[in-house]
Amino acid sequence: MLELRRFYVGGRWVSTQSTAEHVLVSPTTEEPVGIVSLGNSGDVNAAVAAAKAAFPAWSSADLTERIGLIERIHSIYSSRIEEVAQAISTEMGAPIDLARTRQAPAAQRHMTNFLEAVKRFQFIRPLGDHAPNDRILMEPIGVVALITPWNWPMHQVALKVIPALLTGCTMVLKPSEFAPISSSLLAEIIQEAGVPAGVFNLVHGDGEEAGNALVSHPDVAMISFTGSTGAGRKVLRGAADTFKRVALELGGKGANVVFADADDQAIERGVKQCFSNSGQSCNAPTRMLVERSIYDDAVEKARQAAEATPVGASNLPGPHIGPVVSARQFERVQTLIETGIREGARLVTGGLGRPAEFNKGYFIKPTVFADVANSMTIAQEEIFGPVLSIIPFDSEDEAVQIANSTLYGLTNYVQSQNPEKRNRVARRLHSGMVEMNGQPRGAGSPFGGVRHSGGAREGGVWGLEEFLTVKSVSDWGDPTIS
Ligand code: NAD
Repeated sequence: MLELRRFYVGGRWVSTQSTAEHVLVSPTTEEPVGIVSLGNSGDVNAAVAAAKAAFPAWSSADLTERIGLIERIHSIYSSRIEEVAQAISTEMGAPIDLARTRQAPAAQRHMTNFLEAVKRFQFIRPLGDHAPNDRILMEPIGVVALITPWNWPMHQVALKVIPALLTGCTMVLKPSEFAPISSSLLAEIIQEAGVPAGVFNLVHGDGEEAGNALVSHPDVAMISFTGSTGAGRKVLRGAADTFKRVALELGGKGANVVFADADDQAIERGVKQCFSNSGQSCNAPTRMLVERSIYDDAVEKARQAAEATPVGASNLPGPHIGPVVSARQFERVQTLIETGIREGARLVTGGLGRPAEFNKGYFIKPTVFADVANSMTIAQEEIFGPVLSIIPFDSEDEAVQIANSTLYGLTNYVQSQNPEKRNRVARRLHSGMVEMNGQPRGAGSPFGGVRHSGGAREGGVWGLEEFLTVKSVSDWGDPTIS
């Protein structure tokens, strides 16, 4: 069985004094597949001290040095990508083809996009023609703590580690205790790429102990946190005493507004997007809002699409969806399905229990509810399983009102062939992102939300700016430097 007992601190793999551990369980077989040691405040203190010691040199290193490091990380990561995919599939249950084609390559893509962004980034900027000797300096904020979830492990980790490195921050990464294998591999890759000692540190652990120790540590300048809204609230509170910057990427309850003039594929596409990664994505379009005139047809199409969704083991190749991550998550999804039925939503397909072909594993039936009222629990709470709620609407105003009636605001979706209408709706939706007609947002676009989805922006220039502070300087001595 895989044992992850050591953390990467100060350029070395070190043992922990902590005896706490987390058993990694295969979501497919429910058998143990590994053990990870859970670090304590002593481990965090050592990692923060290493990052603090490394900050002066790394923050003043030439940008070409930082770019060179990321290029080497990219190259080594690419050569070990099959290992990364296997790690992700093992730890959180993604089917191996999803891990190979989307989960593991997400980090490569972020590296490429950040390299593009940083080469055009102005770390020293003129204020304006009215103040020719003023400069705005964009400086690394300091030691940053990076806390990540398990659902898209390398995607989340790369969105933090790569811009932190490129901007000259030093860091402690604490990945999810449910997805430590891929992060340990990444630490090996970063080490092999020649990162200076202390610049990047990895401590495994849970939120209570290691997470908390990072959040309250006086030498940590910033917490970049991706995870649940409940934990995000605790992080925000915990960081207040030391006035840290807190960048939060939290949960979502995306609306997918399907107008009667949507393209033919809109319903099937919406179901697939909702069920992708077994529904375990913060930006999943989990509320499908359908214009009344096409409602019955849409419900039928959604039923067909859900029933055509294969469910299968994580290690098998194929386009199926896998299990959800853990017993706890399985139980939570079951409870929410039960609540949907109890509160009067119409169960169109799926429902309670595992799909018939499984007698173990955290497999959920692809589930569609229709006639959902937006006030129901299944329309308000993030389910994080393959469960879609369909809600009818009669007018554009009503669609916008329903879409915005949630505490979250991460990604919303619009399906319409009418450009004026969809642009108008996009402007009115309360969310950090709007995707229309199945067009993915472009490389280097910012990822993030509003309200209870958190206000961070990751990716592209925005993702670099998250790790920088703005210094305003007058009478800059050398006018050639701008
Ligand atoms: P989680 O909140 O349980 O854990 C996330 C991370 O925070 C883990 O590393 C965990 O150990 C740590 N943590 C937990 N409590 C903490 C505390 N009090 N202090 C410090 N650290 C703490 O979330 P999860 O189950 O791992 O991930 C799923 C959640 O993440 C979902 O809500 C999903 O929507 C959200 N998510 C958001 C985005 C985004 O970009 N907005 C992306 C992916 C996932």
